[in-house]
Amino acid sequence: MLKATNVSKSYPGPRGAIEVLSNVSLSLNPGETASIMGPSGSGKSTLLYVLGALEPPSAGEVALDNVNPFTLGERDLAAFRNRRVGFVFQDHFLLPQCTVLENVLAPTLVDHTGGNARARAEWLIAQVGLTDRRDHRPAALSGGERQRAAIARALVRQPRLLLCDEPTGNLDRQSADAVAALLLDLQAREQILIVVTHSAALADRFGKRYTLSDRTLVPR
Ligand code: ADP
Repeated sequence: MLKATNVSKSYPGPRGAIEVLSNVSLSLNPGETASIMGPSGSGKSTLLYVLGALEPPSAGEVALDNVNPFTLGERDLAAFRNRRVGFVFQDHFLLPQCTVLENVLAPTLVDHTGGNARARAEWLIAQVGLTDRRDHRPAALSGGERQRAAIARALVRQPRLLLCDEPTGNLDRQSADAVAALLLDLQAREQILIVVTHSAALADRFGKRYTLSDRTLVPR
């Protein structure tokens, strides 16, 4: 499970530390889905970075399956992020020189524990409806197709935790609906899915619904 306990996060500012998150607690079991809404600048992305082990909290604890990533050494922390966490950003961050298949396979190249990575990548590409775009580079895809490729890439290591930051933010309504349906479909029973969004319609589709308000997470 994912457990955040009294997480606070400050950034250094010109006149001392600026507290972005204050006493955030969250607990999600395998298979649970959650959405986080809140105004721009309220700390939603920061919270995802802390939950996904990209940024250490200033205070409090985060644990995924009873492992606190911030107690790990650099190497183990990198392996933790690679194996246990998948990220989907608003800007897909696909590698422009690589095809869809190569992009989806990229997270499996860092070690050789992938096994049948190629078969899983092809299966995911089929799930996101991109089989006939498999050998295209990102520049030759539509926004929605790029976002679907990014989701396939985030899932290729079968991460326990999938974190999505405005995954439909740049998409038209129809592509946004397709991406949302895909996230909910693909999210296997044992995965934990957290989506940050400005769209109430999207947020309402997830099991637990939160707003970031006054630096903390409140149910909505
Ligand atoms: P949201 O995702 O809700 O728009 P963010 O988490 O991106 O909000 O940002 C929350 C606040 O933290 C903002 O005021 C932003 O300027 C600040 N912030 C984010 N990252 C940094 C950083 N690396 N250094 C300093 N301030 C930051």
